[in-house]
Amino acid sequence: MTSWSRAPGRPARAPRGTSLRPESACFFFDAGPIDDAGARWINGIPPWMFDEAGVPRPEGDELNGRDFAAQLLDADGRRKLRLARAPIWNVDMRRLGARLRSMASAAGAELRERTRAESFEFDGGRPRILTVRGESGEEQIRADLFVDATGRRGALRSLSPALRTWCSDALPSDLCTAAQEVRRIEDTRHAADFLGRYDAKDGDALSFLGIAGGFSTLTIHVHVDRAEIAILTGAIADGRHPDGPQMMKKFLERESWIGEKIFGGSGLIPLRRPFARQAVPGLALIGNAGSQVFPAHGSGIGSGLIAARLLAESAAAYDDVGGLEPLWAYQQRFQRTIGAVNAAYDQFRLFSQTLSGGEVGDLLGAGLMRASSSLAALDQKIPAIGIGEGAALTFAAARAPRLAARFIRPVRAMRRAYAHYLAYPQTPDDDALRTWAARESELFS
Ligand SMILES: Cc1cc2nc3c(=O)[nH]c(=O)nc-3n(C[C@H](O)[C@H](O)[C@H](O)COP(=O)(O)OP(=O)(O)OC[C@H]3O[C@@H](n4cnc5c(N)ncnc54)[C@H](O)[C@@H]3O)c2cc1C
Repeated sequence: MTSWSRAPGRPARAPRGTSLRPESACFFFDAGPIDDAGARWINGIPPWMFDEAGVPRPEGDELNGRDFAAQLLDADGRRKLRLARAPIWNVDMRRLGARLRSMASAAGAELRERTRAESFEFDGGRPRILTVRGESGEEQIRADLFVDATGRRGALRSLSPALRTWCSDALPSDLCTAAQEVRRIEDTRHAADFLGRYDAKDGDALSFLGIAGGFSTLTIHVHVDRAEIAILTGAIADGRHPDGPQMMKKFLERESWIGEKIFGGSGLIPLRRPFARQAVPGLALIGNAGSQVFPAHGSGIGSGLIAARLLAESAAAYDDVGGLEPLWAYQQRFQRTIGAVNAAYDQFRLFSQTLSGGEVGDLLGAGLMRASSSLAALDQKIPAIGIGEGAALTFAAARAPRLAARFIRPVRAMRRAYAHYLAYPQTPDDDALRTWAARESELFS
Protein backbone atom coordinates (compact mmCIF):
# COMPACT_ATOMS: atom_id res chain seq x y z
CA MET A 1 0.00 0.00 0.00
CA THR A 2 1.17 3.51 -0.68
CA SER A 3 0.73 7.01 0.66
CA TRP A 4 1.49 9.94 -1.58
CA SER A 5 1.85 13.65 -0.91
CA ARG A 6 2.91 16.58 -3.02
CA ALA A 7 4.82 18.26 -0.19
CA PRO A 8 7.89 16.19 0.67
CA GLY A 9 9.66 17.04 3.88
CA ARG A 10 6.86 19.17 5.33
CA PRO A 11 6.79 18.45 9.09
CA ALA A 12 3.44 17.49 10.55
CA ARG A 13 2.07 17.70 14.08
CA ALA A 14 1.76 14.51 16.07
CA PRO A 15 -1.71 13.85 17.43
CA ARG A 16 -2.29 11.75 20.57
CA GLY A 17 1.30 12.30 21.69
CA THR A 18 2.73 9.77 19.21
CA SER A 19 5.37 10.51 16.64
CA LEU A 20 4.10 11.68 13.29
CA ARG A 21 6.27 11.01 10.27
CA PRO A 22 7.30 14.01 8.24
CA GLU A 23 5.61 13.80 4.87
CA SER A 24 7.69 12.25 2.11
CA ALA A 25 6.78 12.13 -1.54
CA CYS A 26 5.80 8.47 -1.48
CA PHE A 27 5.85 5.89 1.28
CA PHE A 28 5.27 2.22 0.41
CA PHE A 29 4.72 -0.39 3.07
CA ASP A 30 3.78 -4.05 3.36
CA ALA A 31 2.64 -6.23 6.25
CA GLY A 32 5.24 -8.89 5.40
CA PRO A 33 8.92 -8.94 4.43
CA ILE A 34 9.29 -6.46 1.55
CA ASP A 35 11.06 -9.00 -0.69
CA ASP A 36 8.06 -11.34 -0.35
CA ALA A 37 5.35 -8.76 -1.14
CA GLY A 38 2.71 -9.78 -3.70
CA ALA A 39 2.64 -12.83 -5.97
CA ARG A 40 5.67 -15.14 -5.85
CA TRP A 41 5.00 -17.65 -8.61
CA ILE A 42 4.69 -17.70 -12.41
CA ASN A 43 1.88 -15.55 -13.82
CA GLY A 44 0.76 -15.35 -17.45
CA ILE A 45 0.50 -11.72 -18.61
CA PRO A 46 -0.19 -10.32 -22.13
CA PRO A 47 2.90 -8.23 -23.05
CA TRP A 48 0.77 -5.31 -24.35
CA MET A 49 -0.35 -4.71 -20.76
CA PHE A 50 3.22 -3.81 -19.75
CA ASP A 51 3.36 -1.27 -22.59
CA GLU A 52 0.01 0.18 -21.55
CA ALA A 53 1.21 0.43 -17.95
CA GLY A 54 4.48 2.12 -18.98
CA VAL A 55 6.53 -0.72 -17.47
CA PRO A 56 9.34 -2.18 -19.62
CA ARG A 57 8.53 -5.71 -20.72
CA PRO A 58 10.14 -8.55 -18.74
CA GLU A 59 13.36 -10.03 -20.06
CA GLY A 60 16.16 -12.33 -18.89
CA ASP A 61 15.38 -14.47 -15.83
CA GLU A 62 12.16 -12.56 -15.20
CA LEU A 63 10.70 -14.05 -18.38
CA ASN A 64 9.93 -17.74 -17.88
CA GLY A 65 8.39 -18.39 -21.31
CA ARG A 66 6.88 -16.71 -24.40
CA ASP A 67 5.74 -17.53 -27.93
CA PHE A 68 4.60 -21.01 -26.93
CA ALA A 69 1.77 -22.95 -28.56
CA ALA A 70 -1.24 -23.80 -26.43
CA GLN A 71 -3.84 -26.53 -26.36
CA LEU A 72 -7.21 -26.16 -24.64
CA LEU A 73 -8.35 -29.67 -23.76
CA ASP A 74 -11.31 -31.24 -22.03
CA ALA A 75 -10.71 -33.05 -18.72
CA ASP A 76 -9.64 -36.33 -20.31
CA GLY A 77 -7.65 -34.66 -23.09
CA ARG A 78 -9.67 -36.09 -25.97
CA ARG A 79 -11.34 -32.97 -27.37
CA LYS A 80 -9.05 -30.05 -27.93
CA LEU A 81 -8.48 -26.68 -29.55
CA ARG A 82 -4.98 -25.81 -30.70
CA LEU A 83 -3.59 -22.28 -30.60
CA ALA A 84 -0.41 -21.79 -32.63
CA ARG A 85 0.91 -19.08 -30.30
CA ALA A 86 -0.55 -18.00 -26.96
CA PRO A 87 -0.56 -14.18 -26.59
CA ILE A 88 0.79 -14.30 -23.05
CA TRP A 89 4.22 -14.25 -21.48
CA ASN A 90 4.95 -16.31 -18.40
CA VAL A 91 6.57 -14.05 -15.85
CA ASP A 92 8.48 -14.91 -12.67
CA MET A 93 6.61 -12.67 -10.26
CA ARG A 94 9.37 -12.79 -7.63
CA ARG A 95 11.63 -11.00 -10.10
CA LEU A 96 9.01 -8.65 -11.55
CA GLY A 97 8.05 -7.62 -7.99
CA ALA A 98 11.72 -6.94 -7.16
CA ARG A 99 12.11 -4.85 -10.36
CA LEU A 100 8.97 -2.79 -9.60
CA ARG A 101 10.15 -2.16 -6.04
CA SER A 102 13.57 -1.04 -7.22
CA MET A 103 11.93 1.26 -9.82
CA ALA A 104 9.79 2.74 -7.02
CA SER A 105 12.82 3.17 -4.80
CA ALA A 106 14.84 4.81 -7.58
CA ALA A 107 11.94 7.22 -8.14
CA GLY A 108 12.15 8.30 -4.49
CA ALA A 109 9.59 6.07 -2.76
CA GLU A 110 10.48 4.94 0.74
CA LEU A 111 9.89 1.22 1.19
CA ARG A 112 9.02 -0.23 4.58
CA GLU A 113 8.38 -3.86 5.54
CA ARG A 114 6.48 -5.65 8.35
CA THR A 115 4.26 -2.61 8.74
CA ARG A 116 0.50 -2.99 8.98
CA ALA A 117 -2.28 -0.44 8.54
CA GLU A 118 -4.39 0.02 11.68
CA SER A 119 -6.72 3.04 11.54
CA PHE A 120 -7.50 6.32 9.81
CA GLU A 121 -8.16 9.76 11.17
CA PHE A 122 -10.62 11.63 8.98
CA ASP A 123 -11.13 15.30 8.29
CA GLY A 124 -14.57 16.04 6.82
CA GLY A 125 -14.88 12.38 5.80
CA ARG A 126 -11.51 12.34 3.99
CA PRO A 127 -8.75 10.14 5.45
CA ARG A 128 -5.82 12.36 6.43
CA ILE A 129 -3.68 10.36 8.86
CA LEU A 130 -3.04 6.63 8.83
CA THR A 131 -1.78 4.85 11.91
CA VAL A 132 0.48 1.92 11.06
CA ARG A 133 2.20 -0.57 13.34
CA GLY A 134 5.67 -1.82 12.48
CA GLU A 135 8.56 -3.50 14.25
CA SER A 136 9.46 -0.25 16.00
CA GLY A 137 5.91 0.41 17.20
CA GLU A 138 3.10 2.69 16.16
CA GLU A 139 3.60 5.46 13.64
CA GLN A 140 1.36 8.01 11.97
CA ILE A 141 1.46 9.01 8.35
CA ARG A 142 -0.21 12.11 6.97
CA ALA A 143 -0.82 12.03 3.23
CA ASP A 144 -2.93 13.62 0.52
CA LEU A 145 -3.57 10.22 -1.07
CA PHE A 146 -3.55 6.70 0.34
CA VAL A 147 -3.53 3.80 -2.14
CA ASP A 148 -4.94 0.46 -1.04
CA ALA A 149 -3.01 -2.31 -2.81
CA THR A 150 -3.38 -4.82 0.03
CA GLY A 151 -5.12 -7.52 -2.00
CA ARG A 152 -8.67 -8.84 -1.95
CA ARG A 153 -9.45 -7.99 1.68
CA GLY A 154 -8.67 -4.30 1.08
CA ALA A 155 -7.17 -3.35 4.45
CA LEU A 156 -7.55 0.42 3.84
CA ARG A 157 -10.84 0.09 1.95
CA SER A 158 -12.36 -1.59 4.99
CA LEU A 159 -11.23 1.31 7.24
CA SER A 160 -13.14 3.81 5.09
CA PRO A 161 -16.90 4.15 5.72
CA ALA A 162 -17.24 6.00 2.39
CA LEU A 163 -15.72 3.12 0.36
CA ARG A 164 -17.15 0.30 2.48
CA THR A 165 -20.64 1.05 1.16
CA TRP A 166 -19.42 0.49 -2.42
CA CYS A 167 -17.25 -2.57 -1.89
CA SER A 168 -17.96 -5.87 -0.22
CA ASP A 169 -15.90 -8.98 0.49
CA ALA A 170 -16.19 -11.47 -2.37
CA LEU A 171 -18.65 -14.36 -2.00
CA PRO A 172 -17.04 -17.83 -2.17
CA SER A 173 -18.72 -18.31 -5.58
CA ASP A 174 -16.86 -15.17 -6.80
CA LEU A 175 -13.45 -16.40 -5.66
CA CYS A 176 -10.98 -18.59 -7.52
CA THR A 177 -8.83 -20.90 -5.41
CA ALA A 178 -5.52 -21.26 -7.26
CA ALA A 179 -2.06 -22.78 -6.86
CA GLN A 180 1.01 -22.45 -9.05
CA GLU A 181 4.27 -24.34 -8.66
CA VAL A 182 7.52 -24.79 -10.57
CA ARG A 183 9.01 -28.25 -9.90
CA ARG A 184 11.99 -30.29 -10.99
CA ILE A 185 11.47 -33.09 -13.47
CA GLU A 186 13.01 -36.26 -12.00
CA ASP A 187 12.65 -38.38 -15.10
CA THR A 188 12.96 -36.50 -18.38
CA ARG A 189 12.07 -39.60 -20.44
CA HIS A 190 8.66 -39.76 -18.76
CA ALA A 191 8.28 -36.00 -19.22
CA ALA A 192 8.96 -36.38 -22.95
CA ASP A 193 6.41 -39.24 -23.07
CA PHE A 194 3.87 -36.95 -21.39
CA LEU A 195 4.40 -34.32 -24.09
CA GLY A 196 4.17 -37.01 -26.77
CA ARG A 197 0.82 -38.18 -25.38
CA TYR A 198 -0.62 -34.78 -26.29
CA ASP A 199 1.50 -34.15 -29.38
CA ALA A 200 3.01 -31.11 -27.62
CA LYS A 201 6.45 -29.49 -27.73
CA ASP A 202 8.75 -28.31 -24.94
CA GLY A 203 7.25 -25.28 -23.18
CA ASP A 204 3.78 -25.56 -24.80
CA ALA A 205 0.78 -24.81 -22.59
CA LEU A 206 -1.57 -27.74 -22.00
CA SER A 207 -4.75 -26.39 -20.38
CA PHE A 208 -7.20 -29.03 -19.20
CA LEU A 209 -10.53 -27.25 -18.70
CA GLY A 210 -13.49 -28.30 -16.58
CA ILE A 211 -11.59 -30.79 -14.42
CA ALA A 212 -13.29 -29.46 -11.24
CA GLY A 213 -16.38 -27.60 -12.49
CA GLY A 214 -16.91 -25.43 -15.56
CA PHE A 215 -14.51 -22.61 -14.60
CA SER A 216 -11.61 -24.82 -13.50
CA THR A 217 -8.23 -25.40 -15.10
CA LEU A 218 -5.07 -27.46 -14.82
CA THR A 219 -2.42 -25.78 -16.98
CA ILE A 220 0.96 -27.40 -17.50
CA HIS A 221 4.18 -26.28 -19.19
CA VAL A 222 6.73 -29.11 -19.44
CA HIS A 223 10.29 -27.90 -20.11
CA VAL A 224 12.30 -31.07 -20.74
CA ASP A 225 15.29 -28.90 -21.76
CA ARG A 226 15.51 -27.32 -18.29
CA ALA A 227 14.11 -30.36 -16.45
CA GLU A 228 11.35 -28.16 -15.01
CA ILE A 229 7.58 -28.18 -15.05
CA ALA A 230 5.22 -25.28 -14.27
CA ILE A 231 1.79 -26.30 -12.99
CA LEU A 232 -1.25 -24.08 -12.38
CA THR A 233 -4.51 -25.27 -10.84
CA GLY A 234 -7.65 -23.24 -10.26
CA ALA A 235 -11.34 -23.72 -9.44
CA ILE A 236 -14.23 -21.80 -7.91
CA ALA A 237 -13.85 -21.66 -4.12
CA ASP A 238 -17.50 -22.41 -3.32
CA GLY A 239 -16.70 -25.60 -1.40
CA ARG A 240 -18.24 -27.81 -4.10
CA HIS A 241 -14.88 -28.37 -5.77
CA PRO A 242 -11.38 -29.26 -4.55
CA ASP A 243 -9.21 -26.22 -3.88
CA GLY A 244 -6.12 -25.23 -5.88
CA PRO A 245 -3.58 -27.00 -3.59
CA GLN A 246 -5.75 -30.17 -3.50
CA MET A 247 -5.94 -30.21 -7.31
CA MET A 248 -2.15 -29.78 -7.41
CA LYS A 249 -1.64 -32.69 -4.98
CA LYS A 250 -3.90 -34.95 -7.02
CA PHE A 251 -2.00 -34.21 -10.24
CA LEU A 252 1.39 -34.78 -8.55
CA GLU A 253 0.23 -38.12 -7.12
CA ARG A 254 -0.67 -39.25 -10.64
CA GLU A 255 2.59 -38.16 -12.31
CA SER A 256 5.47 -39.75 -10.42
CA TRP A 257 8.15 -38.28 -12.76
CA ILE A 258 7.67 -34.83 -11.17
CA GLY A 259 10.07 -34.01 -8.34
CA GLU A 260 10.58 -31.36 -5.66
CA LYS A 261 9.12 -27.88 -5.65
CA ILE A 262 11.47 -25.05 -6.64
CA PHE A 263 9.05 -22.23 -5.87
CA GLY A 264 5.34 -21.45 -6.02
CA GLY A 265 2.34 -20.46 -3.95
CA SER A 266 -1.42 -20.40 -3.71
CA GLY A 267 -4.24 -18.03 -2.85
CA LEU A 268 -7.73 -16.76 -3.50
CA ILE A 269 -8.43 -14.42 -6.43
CA PRO A 270 -11.52 -12.17 -6.50
CA LEU A 271 -13.27 -12.73 -9.83
CA ARG A 272 -16.20 -10.32 -9.76
CA ARG A 273 -16.27 -7.24 -11.97
CA PRO A 274 -14.51 -4.13 -10.58
CA PHE A 275 -16.29 -2.36 -7.74
CA ALA A 276 -18.51 0.48 -9.00
CA ARG A 277 -16.42 2.94 -6.99
CA GLN A 278 -12.62 2.71 -7.13
CA ALA A 279 -11.79 5.83 -5.12
CA VAL A 280 -13.10 8.43 -2.70
CA PRO A 281 -11.27 11.64 -1.78
CA GLY A 282 -7.98 10.67 -0.13
CA LEU A 283 -8.14 6.94 -0.94
CA ALA A 284 -7.85 4.89 -4.16
CA LEU A 285 -7.95 1.15 -4.83
CA ILE A 286 -5.47 -0.75 -7.01
CA GLY A 287 -5.34 -4.46 -7.91
CA ASN A 288 -7.33 -7.14 -6.07
CA ALA A 289 -8.43 -4.51 -3.51
CA GLY A 290 -10.58 -2.97 -6.28
CA SER A 291 -11.44 -6.38 -7.80
CA GLN A 292 -9.39 -5.33 -10.83
CA VAL A 293 -9.08 -8.85 -12.20
CA PHE A 294 -9.78 -10.33 -15.61
CA PRO A 295 -12.51 -12.75 -14.48
CA ALA A 296 -12.42 -15.45 -17.17
CA HIS A 297 -9.06 -16.73 -15.91
CA GLY A 298 -8.48 -14.82 -12.68
CA SER A 299 -5.63 -12.64 -13.97
CA GLY A 300 -5.02 -9.47 -12.00
CA ILE A 301 -1.48 -8.35 -12.79
CA GLY A 302 -2.12 -6.53 -16.09
CA SER A 303 -5.27 -4.78 -14.83
CA GLY A 304 -3.52 -3.66 -11.63
CA LEU A 305 -0.44 -2.35 -13.44
CA ILE A 306 -2.54 -0.34 -15.91
CA ALA A 307 -4.75 0.98 -13.10
CA ALA A 308 -1.62 2.23 -11.32
CA ARG A 309 -0.57 4.17 -14.40
CA LEU A 310 -4.05 5.67 -14.82
CA LEU A 311 -4.04 6.74 -11.18
CA ALA A 312 -0.57 8.31 -11.40
CA GLU A 313 -1.44 10.16 -14.61
CA SER A 314 -4.79 11.41 -13.30
CA ALA A 315 -3.29 12.61 -10.02
CA ALA A 316 -0.26 14.24 -11.65
CA ALA A 317 -2.47 16.87 -13.27
CA TYR A 318 -3.64 18.28 -9.89
CA ASP A 319 -2.05 19.99 -6.89
CA ASP A 320 -4.23 18.00 -4.51
CA VAL A 321 -3.42 14.48 -5.71
CA GLY A 322 -6.13 12.99 -3.47
CA GLY A 323 -8.91 15.40 -4.40
CA LEU A 324 -12.25 14.37 -5.88
CA GLU A 325 -11.44 15.46 -9.46
CA PRO A 326 -8.22 13.45 -10.00
CA LEU A 327 -9.64 10.39 -8.30
CA TRP A 328 -12.87 10.52 -10.30
CA ALA A 329 -10.77 10.94 -13.44
CA TYR A 330 -8.86 7.80 -12.40
CA GLN A 331 -11.93 5.67 -11.75
CA GLN A 332 -13.79 6.72 -14.88
CA ARG A 333 -10.73 6.10 -17.08
CA PHE A 334 -10.28 2.68 -15.50
CA GLN A 335 -13.97 1.70 -15.71
CA ARG A 336 -14.31 2.83 -19.34
CA THR A 337 -11.30 0.79 -20.49
CA ILE A 338 -10.05 -2.19 -18.48
CA GLY A 339 -13.16 -2.15 -16.28
CA ALA A 340 -15.46 -2.53 -19.30
CA VAL A 341 -13.48 -5.53 -20.62
CA ASN A 342 -13.38 -7.17 -17.18
CA ALA A 343 -17.10 -6.59 -16.60
CA ALA A 344 -17.92 -8.12 -20.00
CA TYR A 345 -15.85 -11.21 -19.24
CA ASP A 346 -17.42 -11.49 -15.79
CA GLN A 347 -20.64 -12.43 -17.59
CA PHE A 348 -18.75 -15.19 -19.38
CA ARG A 349 -17.14 -16.31 -16.12
CA LEU A 350 -20.56 -16.54 -14.43
CA PHE A 351 -21.79 -18.66 -17.35
CA SER A 352 -18.71 -20.92 -17.29
CA GLN A 353 -19.42 -21.71 -13.62
CA THR A 354 -22.81 -23.19 -14.57
CA LEU A 355 -21.19 -25.73 -16.92
CA SER A 356 -20.16 -29.24 -16.00
CA GLY A 357 -16.79 -30.62 -17.11
CA GLY A 358 -18.62 -32.66 -19.76
CA GLU A 359 -20.31 -29.56 -21.14
CA VAL A 360 -16.94 -27.78 -21.44
CA GLY A 361 -15.85 -30.75 -23.55
CA ASP A 362 -19.05 -30.44 -25.62
CA LEU A 363 -18.26 -26.74 -26.26
CA LEU A 364 -14.82 -27.78 -27.52
CA GLY A 365 -16.19 -30.72 -29.49
CA ALA A 366 -18.96 -28.73 -31.18
CA GLY A 367 -16.57 -25.95 -32.19
CA LEU A 368 -18.40 -23.33 -30.10
CA MET A 369 -15.10 -22.53 -28.39
CA ARG A 370 -13.20 -20.87 -31.23
CA ALA A 371 -9.50 -20.08 -31.63
CA SER A 372 -10.12 -16.36 -32.21
CA SER A 373 -12.28 -15.89 -29.10
CA SER A 374 -9.93 -18.02 -26.97
CA LEU A 375 -6.95 -15.94 -28.13
CA ALA A 376 -8.87 -12.74 -27.34
CA ALA A 377 -9.70 -14.05 -23.85
CA LEU A 378 -6.06 -14.95 -23.17
CA ASP A 379 -5.06 -11.50 -24.44
CA GLN A 380 -7.70 -9.89 -22.16
CA LYS A 381 -9.43 -8.20 -25.09
CA ILE A 382 -12.96 -8.18 -26.52
CA PRO A 383 -13.11 -10.61 -29.47
CA ALA A 384 -13.89 -9.19 -32.90
CA ILE A 385 -16.26 -11.59 -34.64
CA GLY A 386 -15.76 -11.31 -38.41
CA ILE A 387 -18.02 -12.74 -41.11
CA GLY A 388 -16.07 -16.01 -41.42
CA GLU A 389 -16.07 -16.51 -37.66
CA GLY A 390 -19.82 -15.77 -37.47
CA ALA A 391 -20.49 -18.40 -40.16
CA ALA A 392 -18.32 -20.97 -38.35
CA LEU A 393 -20.19 -20.28 -35.10
CA THR A 394 -23.55 -20.67 -36.85
CA PHE A 395 -22.37 -24.01 -38.25
CA ALA A 396 -21.19 -25.11 -34.78
CA ALA A 397 -24.51 -23.97 -33.26
CA ALA A 398 -26.39 -26.22 -35.69
CA ARG A 399 -24.36 -29.19 -34.41
CA ALA A 400 -25.15 -28.49 -30.72
CA PRO A 401 -28.32 -26.34 -30.69
CA ARG A 402 -29.16 -26.69 -26.97
CA LEU A 403 -25.67 -25.78 -25.80
CA ALA A 404 -25.52 -22.99 -28.39
CA ALA A 405 -28.77 -21.52 -27.05
CA ARG A 406 -27.21 -21.40 -23.56
CA PHE A 407 -24.01 -19.94 -25.00
CA ILE A 408 -25.69 -17.06 -26.80
CA ARG A 409 -27.16 -15.57 -23.58
CA PRO A 410 -23.80 -14.73 -21.93
CA VAL A 411 -22.50 -13.40 -25.24
CA ARG A 412 -25.36 -10.86 -25.29
CA ALA A 413 -24.85 -10.13 -21.59
CA MET A 414 -21.16 -9.45 -22.29
CA ARG A 415 -22.11 -6.82 -24.88
CA ARG A 416 -24.54 -5.13 -22.48
CA ALA A 417 -22.05 -5.08 -19.60
CA TYR A 418 -19.31 -3.67 -21.86
CA ALA A 419 -21.59 -0.90 -23.15
CA HIS A 420 -22.69 -0.04 -19.60
CA TYR A 421 -19.13 0.35 -18.33
CA LEU A 422 -18.33 2.58 -21.32
CA ALA A 423 -21.09 4.88 -20.02
CA TYR A 424 -19.53 5.25 -16.53
CA PRO A 425 -20.19 8.85 -15.30
CA GLN A 426 -17.36 10.96 -16.68
CA THR A 427 -17.32 13.79 -14.15
CA PRO A 428 -17.90 13.79 -10.37
CA ASP A 429 -21.62 13.12 -9.80
CA ASP A 430 -22.72 10.87 -6.92
CA ASP A 431 -26.35 10.70 -8.08
CA ALA A 432 -25.34 9.66 -11.60
CA LEU A 433 -23.01 7.04 -10.11
CA ARG A 434 -25.79 5.62 -7.91
CA THR A 435 -28.08 5.34 -10.97
CA TRP A 436 -25.24 3.74 -12.95
CA ALA A 437 -24.50 1.29 -10.12
CA ALA A 438 -28.17 0.28 -9.79
CA ARG A 439 -28.27 -0.65 -13.49
CA GLU A 440 -24.93 -2.44 -13.17
CA SER A 441 -26.36 -4.59 -10.33
CA GLU A 442 -29.39 -5.38 -12.52
CA LEU A 443 -27.17 -6.49 -15.39
CA PHE A 444 -25.43 -8.97 -13.09
CA SER A 445 -28.43 -10.21 -11.09
C1 LIG B 1 -1.85 -19.31 -7.78
C2 LIG B 1 -2.21 -18.04 -8.48
C3 LIG B 1 -1.98 -17.93 -9.83
C4 LIG B 1 -2.28 -16.72 -10.49
N1 LIG B 1 -2.03 -16.62 -11.84
C5 LIG B 1 -2.18 -15.43 -12.44
C6 LIG B 1 -1.79 -15.26 -13.81
O1 LIG B 1 -1.37 -16.20 -14.48
N2 LIG B 1 -1.87 -13.99 -14.35
C7 LIG B 1 -2.31 -12.94 -13.62
O2 LIG B 1 -2.36 -11.80 -14.15
N3 LIG B 1 -2.75 -13.09 -12.34
C8 LIG B 1 -2.67 -14.29 -11.74
N4 LIG B 1 -3.05 -14.43 -10.43
C9 LIG B 1 -3.66 -13.30 -9.74
C10 LIG B 1 -2.63 -12.28 -9.31
O3 LIG B 1 -1.53 -12.91 -8.70
C11 LIG B 1 -3.29 -11.27 -8.37
O4 LIG B 1 -4.38 -10.68 -9.04
C12 LIG B 1 -2.28 -10.20 -7.95
O5 LIG B 1 -1.21 -10.78 -7.26
C13 LIG B 1 -2.97 -9.16 -7.07
O6 LIG B 1 -2.02 -8.22 -6.68
P1 LIG B 1 -2.30 -7.21 -5.48
O7 LIG B 1 -1.06 -6.41 -5.35
O8 LIG B 1 -3.59 -6.52 -5.70
O9 LIG B 1 -2.52 -8.13 -4.20
P2 LIG B 1 -1.55 -9.19 -3.52
O10 LIG B 1 -0.67 -9.85 -4.53
O11 LIG B 1 -2.44 -10.06 -2.69
O12 LIG B 1 -0.59 -8.34 -2.56
C14 LIG B 1 -1.12 -7.69 -1.44
C15 LIG B 1 0.02 -7.27 -0.52
O13 LIG B 1 -0.56 -6.48 0.53
C16 LIG B 1 0.02 -6.85 1.76
N5 LIG B 1 -0.95 -6.58 2.84
C17 LIG B 1 -2.11 -7.24 3.10
N6 LIG B 1 -2.73 -6.70 4.17
C18 LIG B 1 -1.96 -5.67 4.60
C19 LIG B 1 -2.07 -4.72 5.66
N7 LIG B 1 -3.11 -4.71 6.50
N8 LIG B 1 -1.09 -3.78 5.81
C20 LIG B 1 -0.01 -3.78 4.95
N9 LIG B 1 0.14 -4.66 3.94
C21 LIG B 1 -0.82 -5.58 3.76
C22 LIG B 1 0.34 -8.34 1.61
O14 LIG B 1 1.39 -8.72 2.48
C23 LIG B 1 0.71 -8.45 0.14
O15 LIG B 1 2.12 -8.35 -0.08
C24 LIG B 1 -2.82 -15.64 -9.76
C25 LIG B 1 -3.08 -15.77 -8.39
C26 LIG B 1 -2.79 -16.97 -7.75
C27 LIG B 1 -3.08 -17.10 -6.28
